[in-house]
Amino acid sequence: MEMPPVFIIFYKRFRKNDSIAAKGTLSPLLPAKQANSALIMSPARGGVSGYPVLSAYSAAGRFPCYTVPMRIIRAGVLGYCMGVRRAVELAYREAAKSASPGGRVYTVGPLIHNPQVLEDLRRRGVEALDGAGLPGDLSGSAVIIRAHGITPELEAELVRRGAAIRDATCPKVKASQMKARALYRAGCRLFLAGERRHGEIIGIQGYAPDCVIVASRDEAEKEAAALAREFAAAAPQGNSAAPPKTALIAQTTFSPEEYRAIAGGIARHLPETEIINTICPATKDRQESLRSLCSAVDAVVIVGGRDSANTRRLLAIAESCGKPAWLVENAAAVPREAAAFPAVGLSAGASTPGEVIDSVEAALRRLASGA
Ligand code: SF4
Repeated sequence: MEMPPVFIIFYKRFRKNDSIAAKGTLSPLLPAKQANSALIMSPARGGVSGYPVLSAYSAAGRFPCYTVPMRIIRAGVLGYCMGVRRAVELAYREAAKSASPGGRVYTVGPLIHNPQVLEDLRRRGVEALDGAGLPGDLSGSAVIIRAHGITPELEAELVRRGAAIRDATCPKVKASQMKARALYRAGCRLFLAGERRHGEIIGIQGYAPDCVIVASRDEAEKEAAALAREFAAAAPQGNSAAPPKTALIAQTTFSPEEYRAIAGGIARHLPETEIINTICPATKDRQESLRSLCSAVDAVVIVGGRDSANTRRLLAIAESCGKPAWLVENAAAVPREAAAFPAVGLSAGASTPGEVIDSVEAALRRLASGA
């Protein structure tokens, strides 16, 4: 009676000196009789066709070999966050309206950290303004405020020059701005955790001009100690009145761990400081989703702009999980090596459009199939 075929599942990714490639023999990998067996190879290094010995065995009918298709697994949460999607949709709507004569559309700074979207919008007549060099006359123009927001002074200046404001400030960033303004008006001294030169921080600072920006625990401790000394010096001798109120808010994309550390540093000197959680879960959701994806794949491709801090952070997370990882801005940039892994994870920064993610996935599939 003929024996049923024995399938040897071989999902392992070969390393440089694996015996098949190095010695041209199957024996260390397949010690048993090979008749009636089939070898199912992962697509690593070209699958079956990447190994002349296997190809020869297969062609001779001695030993059927198959290559399994590469699996591409997307992170559960990836790509556009709510605020960025909202801003991009608004920009496209305004671009469509500006097709009418006389209409001009601007954004204050680049709308998002994605070169393809910026280029597409530019082709549709949407130009990025530099806040430091505004045109003198903006009458008849629509100016879109991006998701990071801007200072109230800059907004007022745009209106003064005749612009019609289209506000795409993310509602979460707007909430931080309003909170900062309310605290400032109530005489509270505000700490702002974030990157000093980030557009969102510059915008919020405009609502609380005397706020103290801190980027690390050390900096927070130093600034809190200085403020505590300032309060002590300002209090009349023997006055036991409570010092002015202090509060801490964060850039929406700040790391929760670093925020906790900063809060701890401030509390050492100003223990009554109110800690307000303004961190948006969008960044954390993408990071956690990628971490769990890493346990199920052999390599990771991150799609997004190189200028995007949250995209670069995703790359760092994939690498810290021990996975070969690449950051690509578009389908043309997908490296050939990425397509050689049995299971590839796909994630994308919060400013990456769905179409770019789709095109990168399609490019990976084409490379894996040898096309
Ligand atoms: S990351 Fe959060 S706060 Fe920032 S734009 Fe996106 S949704 Fe808004």
